[in-house]
Amino acid sequence: MRSKGDFHTHTTASDGILTPTALVDLVASQGVVYHAVTDHDSTEGIAEARKAAAKYDGYTLIPGVEMGTDIEGAEVHMLGLFLNPDDPELQEALKTLREGRLGRGFGIVEKLRGMGIMIEWERVQAIAGEASVGRPHIAAALVEKGYVSKVAEAFDRWIGRNGPAYVERDKMTPAESVQFITKRGGLACIAHPADLPNMDTILGELTAAGMTAMEVFYKDYPPATVEMLRLAAERHGLLPLGGSDYHGIFGNEECLPGDIPLPDSSIERLLEMASKLPNRELIA
Ligand SMILES: [Zn+2]
Ligand SMILES: [Zn+2]
Repeated sequence: MRSKGDFHTHTTASDGILTPTALVDLVASQGVVYHAVTDHDSTEGIAEARKAAAKYDGYTLIPGVEMGTDIEGAEVHMLGLFLNPDDPELQEALKTLREGRLGRGFGIVEKLRGMGIMIEWERVQAIAGEASVGRPHIAAALVEKGYVSKVAEAFDRWIGRNGPAYVERDKMTPAESVQFITKRGGLACIAHPADLPNMDTILGELTAAGMTAMEVFYKDYPPATVEMLRLAAERHGLLPLGGSDYHGIFGNEECLPGDIPLPDSSIERLLEMASKLPNRELIA
């Protein structure tokens, strides 16, 4: 199923493979016209994406970010939509988060080397280029050296959350990220929540903190999962959103932008909510 909206995508500003321009071109070719760029802890891709989006009639580019946060035993990703890339306080906080990623990436490479898996930190940094180093860059280095055949295999065997080479980093709590996003005038939406332990409790706490949306129509969630999440969104009064989480690194099976069963009603409600946000002028 194809939607007109996709509110979760990555570019070379974090661990996506496409430049912001190439991503917008792909998104537009998919018939998507409401598009959020949500790089990990970075808005560096927004300016270029905006320029590219201006070529397309009726294309609404929503500036966003995906913040990594921690709870006991799990990682929670929080999307911040309608954030202003020119906000110095936002940039200060994102810089701190990126420095945490760098330290964590180095720690993972050290752990791998301790296990006899000899990839070079310099090579991981080169693969990341201008982007902030993420685990997919480490995975790419592992593929390059022939230790695994696919990025996903690197996550499964070593660098996924429960993998032997995983390293934690200091992060905000999910509630702190919600408060941060709303204080900066944006809209907070929890990303890919299906696997969270005690999801309902977390959703309740984050809604109380000011979160107003959650991902329901996410990437390859099967229909039963989507339905379970749709009901949860209803229980908590959250706007059911979604996105492909497109990175371009997971090969042929990767969900393309807009290939999600996100209904038009979600897009309409989002635009309605956005029109009341402090940052409403950001919607181009
Ligand atoms: Zn995520
Ligand atoms: Zn993502």
